[in-house]
Amino acid sequence: MGSYRSDPVHLEFWYRCVKCGYMYTPQQFQALAQLHASHTGEKEAELLEAPERVPCRNRGCTGHLTRTESEYKEAR
Ligand SMILES: [Zn+2]
Repeated sequence: MGSYRSDPVHLEFWYRCVKCGYMYTPQQFQALAQLHASHTGEKEAELLEAPERVPCRNRGCTGHLTRTESEYKEAR
């Protein structure tokens, strides 16, 4: 197991809400997972592996996220 980096997973794909279709960047997804973990006591690393357990942040939306096949290219 090569765990020399602190990053638990490679966040290189867009994430999308299954209900409202809102698109999240990997950074937004990570922030959302972190926030959700702090509320529920779940492990952030586990949520990052399971986007279906991370709820959409849009008000009134009861959807959850899913990883898309669209690669996220960081604008530098
Ligand atoms: Zn949504």
